[in-house]
Amino acid sequence: MRSSNAPDVPHPARSHDCPSTTAVRGRLVWFRDDPFLRPSAEALEYVEDGLLVCQEGRIVAAGDYGRLVRALPPGVTVESYRDKLILPGLVGSHAHYVQMRIIASYGEQLPEWLQDYVYPEEVRFTDPAYARSIAALFCDELLRNGTTTAMVYCAPSPQSVDALFEESVGRGMRLVAGKVMMDRNALPGMLDSSPEQAYEDCAKLIDRWHGVGRSVYAVTPRFAFTCTPGMLSAAGALWREHPGTRLQTHVSENTREIELVKGLFPRPPYKDYIDVYEKHGMLGPGAVFAHAVHLGKREWRRLHETGSGVSHCPSSNLFLGSGLFRMKRAVKPGRRVPVGLGSDVAGGTSLSLLQTASEAYKVGALRRYPMDGVQLFYLATTGSATAMRLEHLIGSLEPGHEADFIVLDPAATPTLDARTSGDDSIDDLLFSLAVMGDDRTVLATYVAGRLAHHRDTCPAPMPVRLNETRGPEK
Ligand SMILES: [Zn+2]
Repeated sequence: MRSSNAPDVPHPARSHDCPSTTAVRGRLVWFRDDPFLRPSAEALEYVEDGLLVCQEGRIVAAGDYGRLVRALPPGVTVESYRDKLILPGLVGSHAHYVQMRIIASYGEQLPEWLQDYVYPEEVRFTDPAYARSIAALFCDELLRNGTTTAMVYCAPSPQSVDALFEESVGRGMRLVAGKVMMDRNALPGMLDSSPEQAYEDCAKLIDRWHGVGRSVYAVTPRFAFTCTPGMLSAAGALWREHPGTRLQTHVSENTREIELVKGLFPRPPYKDYIDVYEKHGMLGPGAVFAHAVHLGKREWRRLHETGSGVSHCPSSNLFLGSGLFRMKRAVKPGRRVPVGLGSDVAGGTSLSLLQTASEAYKVGALRRYPMDGVQLFYLATTGSATAMRLEHLIGSLEPGHEADFIVLDPAATPTLDARTSGDDSIDDLLFSLAVMGDDRTVLATYVAGRLAHHRDTCPAPMPVRLNETRGPEK
């Protein structure tokens, strides 16, 4: 287990073309506490007529419009979104950008789906031009869907990592991503030749990208079935030896996968699936385990005790027939595990975290744990940020945080307008948006205080250029 808590990540160097001051007026929503441990009303921060003020890419004030507007610097124009909601930018804790073109591939469960669809597509990412075109599509689609940060798997090829960070840095986004490491049970042409080679390739990528712009490198062994013990050890060592990086992998997604892993990592000496990762130094703050559908009590306890995070990916779990996540076990008082929301594109069928939240509600309902609107939006903002140990930087409108935020339109469609135009409470409005919302609901997306996407005025996201030199900390 790693002893550090909330490991620091580099901050971007100040750029001469950074925005000076951005001020937006609307209904401000964020979270001051955990709605899974406190009543939602106590966890929610809501300002009916609010003003959000950002300077140099950070939030400097969030509160009552009448009070704050008088303190604005001269010449600042307030952008008015009076009947809209302003929330932190959505944060996704699990996605594969290299699978954008195989979304909705038919008819398989996880092991066959990987062999038939995923691996043949991911081998294409040795071509830098192809990788760059998909990376650009992915980043644009994230912003169009209101997602300002995502934790992302690239392909096994280092070129796939270069392509994604080039695109995300160009847009000023805080993206967390890394090269997939694997050395068995996939197409031979895409396997790492040895754990040592994979370590060296990843170390070079960390040196090239971690801390450039707002980039955070994530050590990314795909999952235990495609990794030898040596490869898992290399991943654990890589993470430990590069402070500030994160770690991501898959766990306990599909019952057949669990049996396959048990065959490769027998019990004893391994106690269970989580123990396979723990014995290779992969648990701790900043590690995010995707799916966690079929975990046992001991595994949940070890995630809690080590400060590890989980990404709940309901759309993917339903599409691949993997199973129903047990949120109640994840948020058990006294054993709370940080949980975020992930699209898991392309196992998931949409990059929209609003549509993903809707699926999370339905999975919760089937498990007799129906979540309210505050809990669903918490998962898609502060929850994911906390799972990644980035909650001190993103996922909140609290002053001091980075100025990634979105504007949601409760009247985005006639049906949504009809549902939300009454005298409903903010809790009910949030629930409607979480269950009925999609990309059309996202009116605007701001990255580091600058408009990066507007539904009605620009067909494609406006690129944000930040200084591409390395930040002062590493
Ligand atoms: Zn995945």
